Amino acid sequence: MRFSDIKGNSSIVSALRGMVDTGRIPHAMLFHENDGGGALPIVLAFLQYLYCRSRQDGDSCSECPSCNKISKLIHPDVHFIFPVAGKGSVDKPTSETFISEWRELILSKPYFFENQLYDALGLENKQGVIAVSEAKSLLDKLSLFGVEGGYRSVVVYLPEKMNIQAANTLLKMIEEPPENTVFLMITHEPEKVLKTIYSRCLFMRVLPLSREDLKDVHPEQDAEYSENADIFGDLMNALIARDLLTALETADALVDLKNREKQKSFFKFASEALRKIFLVQQGLASIADISEEESEYYSRLAGSVKRSFSRNALTYFDRAQTLLERNVNQKILFTDLVNRLYVIV
Ligand SMILES: [Zn+2]
Repeated sequence: MRFSDIKGNSSIVSALRGMVDTGRIPHAMLFHENDGGGALPIVLAFLQYLYCRSRQDGDSCSECPSCNKISKLIHPDVHFIFPVAGKGSVDKPTSETFISEWRELILSKPYFFENQLYDALGLENKQGVIAVSEAKSLLDKLSLFGVEGGYRSVVVYLPEKMNIQAANTLLKMIEEPPENTVFLMITHEPEKVLKTIYSRCLFMRVLPLSREDLKDVHPEQDAEYSENADIFGDLMNALIARDLLTALETADALVDLKNREKQKSFFKFASEALRKIFLVQQGLASIADISEEESEYYSRLAGSVKRSFSRNALTYFDRAQTLLERNVNQKILFTDLVNRLYVIV
């Protein structure tokens, strides 16, 4: 994986490139991605650049022995830790037990979802965890010198899945890191990562994929996103234009979705969109998880609705969702929702 293969996230890529170029590499970084969002490809491109013996034009060469080993996930100084569970006769599994399944998944689908990992490992609905045996085995590995004499790296996928003993063991390593060792962690729920670990990491927010990239790597998710974005966009445009009739047509579109799961998915989309509008209005766009291509769109919406709109609209959406679960007549429910939004926009 090279930096040039990474979709979007140009500012993270240039920050990572700069670290290697200046030799100022933080010993622990925490990447927050939405599930399936591609933090691992970013981490792999960083590692390939870090280890590359013949960097050129701000990227790895992809041909030297180091690049070769990193791209096959077989570099002896790069360790991977991810949640696992017992399977068959395996009693105390570690990531090592499943390393070939891990490699196979990452090489075929670098933008994988968490549940695809568990499927690939054959965990059959068991909850994956990172146990203390994992942390101890890592400690053993790091007590040795790097095999190839350069950096040693530990990639931890989902540190929030560590039990408390494992987290404390890892914390000790991060507090007193062995020389030339870098920890790269990928989280979906940063609030569940042990605070003391979190506070020692350089935090990086991996932005959601653009629509085009989403279509490329997760076509099903893109189709759903596209449907939701269209209805939400039509609704907001009609509300802002004070065009109640057109706004009410979106209520019909919601009824036409028919499938309850799709309607719920729309509510989720709308809630996230309202949250983004609210944050942009507060001057907090940087923490709103807005992809580069959508930033103008959300700025426009934020500038067109009242500052109280998002908060009030969220209340109405929550209420509508509760009623939806109670099988209230959908035509009445969605028409009522749109009417209420029309009043507060
Ligand atoms: Zn190279």
